Amino acid sequence: MLFDKDGTLSHSEPYLLKLSRERINQSIALFKPGGTSSHLARAKLEDLLSKVYGVTSKEVHPGGILAVASKEQNLTSTATIFSLMGKSWPTSFELAQEAFHRADECLLKEENQQKTKKTTLLPGARAILKSLKQAGVLCALISNDNSAGIKNFLKENDLEQYFCHIWSAENNPKKPDPIAVQSLCNEIGLHPNKCALIGDANSDLKMALQANVSLILGYISGWSNPPKLSEQQFLIHHWEELTVLSQTNIPDNFNRT
Ligand SMILES: [Mg+2]
Repeated sequence: MLFDKDGTLSHSEPYLLKLSRERINQSIALFKPGGTSSHLARAKLEDLLSKVYGVTSKEVHPGGILAVASKEQNLTSTATIFSLMGKSWPTSFELAQEAFHRADECLLKEENQQKTKKTTLLPGARAILKSLKQAGVLCALISNDNSAGIKNFLKENDLEQYFCHIWSAENNPKKPDPIAVQSLCNEIGLHPNKCALIGDANSDLKMALQANVSLILGYISGWSNPPKLSEQQFLIHHWEELTVLSQTNIPDNFNRT
């Protein structure tokens, strides 16, 4: 069983909102517009960054770049906004890198001071992972977070025992390339047609279809604004909707389709 992380297992929205706010604040602090309309230029920068990240003051768009894409892709998008604001590309990229670096440092300091977890699990996620393990189902995580972020999530939430493999943004290719799924299945030692994938983005589900994964599940309860999915075979609103049956207790009349 292949799992997406953010918005599928992980309640990532509060952390991503804080991260986007910090990246926007640091970008504004680093931005030095010329002329008398610097206030307007900063407001424009804030508006463009919010739009490109897909965030409002309360919500993260589940299909936006912040929710779906890698840090590198978010960095490039931020640099693109600086270039739209009139900076050269080298300066734009440096500003974006510095803003991301400062935002990471601020959030790390806050986490250390408050001793808080970055993200928590969505309701019922631990129980389904436990049931799958008990039934002997191999589970893997495929995410566009980097490897350190995935490992930190697993460690913080005491989930390391449930996953045999991870595929991060540092693996090549990364999601949503179907070869990412095929390569991960290869590492696990199973053909994709013996696997299921569950995710909260159409890009995840399309990737699974293109990789010939046999069971494709969409999960929609990880965000305030539920994702509008269309590529799934089955839609899951809560992890409690799933029951794991081991080979020994599948009833004779159970419909496997
Ligand atoms: Mg996700």
